[in-house]
Amino acid sequence: MSAKILAGKEIAEKIKQDVKKDLEILREKGITAKLVAVQVGKNPSSAVYLNAQKKSCQAIGINHEVKILDNNISEADLIQFIQHLNKDKETTGIILQLPLPQGVDVRKVQSSISVEKDVEGVNPANLGWIVYGRPFLAPCTALAVKELIDSTGIDLYGKEVVMVGHSDIVGKPVSLLLVDKFATVTICHIGTSEKGMLEAHVKMAEILVVAVGKAHLIKGDIIKEGATVIDVGINKLGDKIVGDVEFEIAKERAGWITPVPGGVGPVTTAILLRNTVNAVKNLNKLA
Ligand code: NAD
Repeated sequence: MSAKILAGKEIAEKIKQDVKKDLEILREKGITAKLVAVQVGKNPSSAVYLNAQKKSCQAIGINHEVKILDNNISEADLIQFIQHLNKDKETTGIILQLPLPQGVDVRKVQSSISVEKDVEGVNPANLGWIVYGRPFLAPCTALAVKELIDSTGIDLYGKEVVMVGHSDIVGKPVSLLLVDKFATVTICHIGTSEKGMLEAHVKMAEILVVAVGKAHLIKGDIIKEGATVIDVGINKLGDKIVGDVEFEIAKERAGWITPVPGGVGPVTTAILLRNTVNAVKNLNKLA
């Protein structure tokens, strides 16, 4: 059996069209969206990412500005800068680009982003809304994973889900989003691997989500026949970009599988745009 490919680009395109329509309606009411990305220090790989972000915002009608702050900025001054953006009427969404310089408490700075403008869903209050089963501005990648699974039409009720990776922006929120649909969710991580138990869990997964960042960590021949495989990982292997799952072998066993690149990535970008427009609606009491 050869898996159906979960084409992230097509799903992303549909989300973008919906966002575009919403922005047109807002514009008729005189409301505009502006996303501000805050970066501390110069970082070439961030610059590439932020340029791509700017392009996708501008293509859809969202204003985008990058603020590059001095690498020596203190934590207090960085928080003050974010608080200024929180109050700025024109700014409707705030992104804090990581990494931050050593000695700056990332969590403290993320917590200072206004809950209403936190379009990446990193403020603890927005993460907390997921626990309540009412996700609003949730982390974009976690929402993208859910969107991809939903696009297959699979009913999550009672499904064996294995989430490999337990980061705050992917593994943990994905697990909560899926358990709320009554999936049976097992979260695996480095501890699972080091105890030699990863393979046993993966073999049971009807839905497998992997967000680790290790090229081909999951061997294709252990994928359950017919499983849905969502590969979040992005890794450089030689001159190629590959995921955490051995795609070529896994696709012969899976029912659905995301490619890397072209799977989770484009949907994540589209969700950022959707979160941005949702933030604008909420700020204007239209949500
Ligand atoms: P992270 O680095 O914060 O966490 C990694 C997780 O993997 C941890 O839970 C860790 O315990 C686990 N882990 C590490 N080694 C392991 C092993 N051998 N076996 C099992 N688990 C192991 O990760 P993150 O920020 O969630 O990112 C994970 C990957 O997803 C990275 O490749 C990142 O680039 C990618 N990513 C992609 C997108 C996208 O839009 N496509 C978005 C975010 C992250």
